[in-house]
Amino acid sequence: MNLTQRDAEVIWHPYTQMLNSSPPIAISHAEGCYLYDENGQRYIDAVSSWWVILHGHSHPYIVEQVQQQLKKLDQVIFAGFTHEPAIALAETLLSILPANQQKVFYTDNGSTAVEVALKMCLQYWYNKNLPRKKVLAFHNGYHGDTFGAMSVSGRSAWTTPFESHLFDVVFIDLPVAQNIEDLKKQVTALSNSLACFIYEPLVQGSAGMIMYGAEELDQLLAHCRDCGVLMIQDEVFTGFGRTGRNFAADYLSTVPDLMCFSKGLTGGTMPLGVTTCTQHIYNAFLSADKLKTLFHGHSFTANPLACTAALASIQLLLSAETQHHIQRICQQHQTFAIEIASHPKVKEVRQTGTILAIEWLAGDGTSYFSGLRDLLYRYFLDHHILLRPLGNIIYILPPYCISNTDLAYIYQTITDALHTI
Ligand SMILES: *Cc1c(COP(=O)(O)O)cnc(C)c1O
Repeated sequence: MNLTQRDAEVIWHPYTQMLNSSPPIAISHAEGCYLYDENGQRYIDAVSSWWVILHGHSHPYIVEQVQQQLKKLDQVIFAGFTHEPAIALAETLLSILPANQQKVFYTDNGSTAVEVALKMCLQYWYNKNLPRKKVLAFHNGYHGDTFGAMSVSGRSAWTTPFESHLFDVVFIDLPVAQNIEDLKKQVTALSNSLACFIYEPLVQGSAGMIMYGAEELDQLLAHCRDCGVLMIQDEVFTGFGRTGRNFAADYLSTVPDLMCFSKGLTGGTMPLGVTTCTQHIYNAFLSADKLKTLFHGHSFTANPLACTAALASIQLLLSAETQHHIQRICQQHQTFAIEIASHPKVKEVRQTGTILAIEWLAGDGTSYFSGLRDLLYRYFLDHHILLRPLGNIIYILPPYCISNTDLAYIYQTITDALHTI
């Protein structure tokens, strides 16, 4: 039996239909922005392996640092114990986040980073004995697949089977110049019952790389602050350079109360989640009363290897070389965006930093389930590129080490697909 057949015997993959889906491609190794399958076929990883890889696969510096750490300390309980990688990472991360972020809470993925942020906000008001219990979120947002994260995400085919088990959330539209005053009124009307507002800043990733303005978001956030609503900025996707700056926060003047990170946090090498918060939030849990404790901790909280990988990845991110690569990708995207925008089959081109989305003018609907999506996915694989369209939206989200030659090949293949399909 080959790997694909063995896989079919024992594995249940995420996001894969049980019947009719093509078998998975077995990857044997990866380097830089290339994936190699067991037959030696090479694919360009143009979606950074589900948005996580920053500096390319198996980056030698991260590999070296993790190897050294593995020889020293693999794992230790993080309640009552601590270690250098966790502390060094927290110090480094806080030094590049908005100055009001003062405490780091570790988990092991994006969904749990969101769960912790929600629990911190809800318990913040509980500890203060104030009746603020509602959560505010954007329509069509995505914050993860666990129950709390699903609850604050937009309702869709993903959440329908669990609908009755999801807690109530007040959903509002993305802010634009025309509706901002109306949105502020909605927040004001609810403000005494709102615990927090959770949002993906500037880009709603899973919704289809939907982009919206920093200025309008800033106005909404400033109003939330005036109304005492805690703000959770979910940078699980936008963090670590994706938007062209280190964080989406670097485009905003209103600072959030809490922030969530994962995906690119370790450069994509290992699972790790982080929730940061202000000293003010932290203080609401400081008490001799044990009932005010945040009772949340995962077995692999602050795994030393993952923390080491994250520290190495952030060092790489901050290097002049990586910052140059990020700007280079932004410029390449920009040039192609202008070129492709006038194509008759293109409905819209959107770009925020290294994220480029091309919305296809599709006849048969825009959903994840559209037939066009499968055709495109297959077409790009046949041309040795991993691109995973969201419905009729093709997006490019490359590792920062991608060459201009590979970018040009991806752009050309997309252009050809527009002509061919
Ligand atoms: C992917 C994602 C999450 C969930 O992260 P996981 O590590 O997949 O659980 C949360 N928020 C946003 C904005 C995301 O894009």
